[in-house]
Amino acid sequence: MIDLRSDTVTKPSQAMREAMFAAPVGDDVYGDDATANSLEESVAHLLGKEAGLFTPSGSLANQLAIRMLVKPGEELLSETHSHIVRAELGAAAVFSGITTRTWLADRGILKASDVLEIARPDSGPYLVSTTAIAVENTHNFGGGSIQPLNEIAELRRESQALGIAMHLDGARLWNAHVATGIALKDYAQHFDTVSVCLSKGLGAPVGSVMVGSKELVATARQWRKRYGAGMRQIGMLAAAGHFALDNNIARLSEDHRRAQLIATAAHSISPTFVDPTTVDTNIVALDLRAIKATASEVNASLKAEGILASALGPKFLRLVTHLDVNDGDIEATCVALKKVLSNALVA
Ligand SMILES: *Cc1c(COP(=O)(O)O)cnc(C)c1O
Repeated sequence: MIDLRSDTVTKPSQAMREAMFAAPVGDDVYGDDATANSLEESVAHLLGKEAGLFTPSGSLANQLAIRMLVKPGEELLSETHSHIVRAELGAAAVFSGITTRTWLADRGILKASDVLEIARPDSGPYLVSTTAIAVENTHNFGGGSIQPLNEIAELRRESQALGIAMHLDGARLWNAHVATGIALKDYAQHFDTVSVCLSKGLGAPVGSVMVGSKELVATARQWRKRYGAGMRQIGMLAAAGHFALDNNIARLSEDHRRAQLIATAAHSISPTFVDPTTVDTNIVALDLRAIKATASEVNASLKAEGILASALGPKFLRLVTHLDVNDGDIEATCVALKKVLSNALVA
């Protein structure tokens, strides 16, 4: 099976496992895990922030960050199809009493004006006050789309003047950085908090890091413990993160090139499926609205050909490239995809 359901399916390589095996460890709740400490410092440094906090998942990194920025009964703005709103099981409401209001954006791509139009800081005694905005880069359900830096900068300028904080869900910020050449710091400078994932395209088995100011991260560390995610000898996991940062960032361009091949194959069957110029990174979002078959039907046909994809909506099929697939796998994927989509087109 060629597994393109997500870049989370990657497994630690032999070399990564050796780095994990050899890692110096200590009790991280006591602050004694040297490998975890250095990973947090490295990621904070890469993103130009004072401090970092290792978390077992990206969802927890996001949730700790927005908890620091938004008080119970206040409001976080986020895009309609963002991970924070759609894929974290309502955690912001359940754990933090945060209400969310959303703006809708084509492919999830940020326009500062869309957000500013609905932002309502200092709403007084009757209405909910906006205190933070979350931006997702790259945008997962938007098809791995990259957020324009000028729109981020404008949103930061305008929202800061209104006293509104900003969080970056940068689970795949690495992909945006590699695709554009824009430094991670240059993205991160516009945000109070940033979360990044080590367990997607970077190939670590577990882990995300949340970064921000020293004070904010110290408070988030208490909340991480309160949520039950104070971990002990996590140096073995942090070592995988170090290995990922050292070895697996630049190679993301391979994933992007391979996503282009898949998009081009689908486009050659019908341009309605996907426009390859809109595939910015490693996610190919296929639009099946022009055919009768549903995403789960196409998914089942692909599975019969040995290809695993994700049906994320009735007419939305997602294929994600990652470090555990090679050029041969992509060639086989294109052959299978052409066969399945041609059949679906005439059905
Ligand atoms: C994967 C992902 C996360 C975090 O997911 P976890 O499964 O909790 O690690 C957060 N944001 C985005 C955009 C993601 O794609």
